[in-house]
Amino acid sequence: MKPFDYLTPAHVDEAVGLLADRGDTARVIAGGQSLLLAMKQRDATPRALVAVGRIPALSGWSAEAAGRLSIGAATSYATLERAELPGWHAEIAAVAGNLADRPVRTMGTIGGALCQADPRFDMPTVAVGVDAELELLSVEGGRRVPAAAFFDPAGGARCGATELLTTLSVPGLERFTGAAFQKFRVRTFDAALASVLCAARVDEAGRLEELRVVVGAVAPAPLVVEGVAADLAGAEAASLDTVGAGRAVAEEAVPLGPSASDLRRYQRELVAVLARDAIRRATETSRS
Ligand SMILES: Cc1cc2nc3c(=O)[nH]c(=O)nc-3n(C[C@H](O)[C@H](O)[C@H](O)COP(=O)(O)OP(=O)(O)OC[C@H]3O[C@@H](n4cnc5c(N)ncnc54)[C@H](O)[C@@H]3O)c2cc1C
Repeated sequence: MKPFDYLTPAHVDEAVGLLADRGDTARVIAGGQSLLLAMKQRDATPRALVAVGRIPALSGWSAEAAGRLSIGAATSYATLERAELPGWHAEIAAVAGNLADRPVRTMGTIGGALCQADPRFDMPTVAVGVDAELELLSVEGGRRVPAAAFFDPAGGARCGATELLTTLSVPGLERFTGAAFQKFRVRTFDAALASVLCAARVDEAGRLEELRVVVGAVAPAPLVVEGVAADLAGAEAASLDTVGAGRAVAEEAVPLGPSASDLRRYQRELVAVLARDAIRRATETSRS
């Protein structure tokens, strides 16, 4: 590892000031679970690290206007998994509690996973799946972007070198009536081979008013499956063919060319099952 300055701003304005001063020679460090590994392997050689883990405004969660849930970017998975969140927001806490192992959950943060933008990580798929918005700040001002626009379809996060991700803003409980995340991994601490987030809103008559299905780990960025969601809009939730819907999600999200690898074929099978279960669970929660 090459020598670097370790900077510990006390508040957000100081952090973005340091990022502006140091330009692209600096990197934000939150839990360090991804960045330190990259530095050890010399894939990243920053001259300065701007540590944001101890900035109080970036940790924890709170209710925003219109019932939105606001999660600070430097909130650790361990903090999030202990959150007693109401309704379908609880699925976000459950995802945090079922990810990697305890040391990773203790150090790793939701904002770090979003900025790292590895499609196999859980939180990018969850953030896009629940249609969250991300708040970013630099000395030039703030901006708010839908999670789906934050991830470059070719891979990586659309976060400038001098920008700080401050907040994940999740829609209020009225937006959906249920949400469910399903993933498949080989070992506990492995990243997912495939994952699916389904968020649904079922009306009082039991019909699907909105369905969002997002697939992770099968492309460089989370994939919003629009065709199947449009086909199922207005359907009666209680009599959905979830097996057929799961297969349709897999066909849309994981197209197979003639030279598709075994892994790709396996991922398609996985997505069919994960999507079936996510749709079933999200719509069942909606009806209960
Ligand atoms: C053994 C192991 C198993 C894992 N298993 C899983 C898993 O099952 N599922 C899963 O989802 N993840 C998993 N992870 C990955 C984990 O989610 C990420 O490594 C970690 O959460 C990244 O968060 P961090 O706070 O440690 O980020 P860091 O490593 O500190 O930062 C990661 C990147 O984000 C940037 N960054 C961080 N915070 C900000 C910010 N606020 N604003 C701008 N840029 C920022 C950094 O500059 C860096 O580029 C695993 C990691 C390990 C080591």
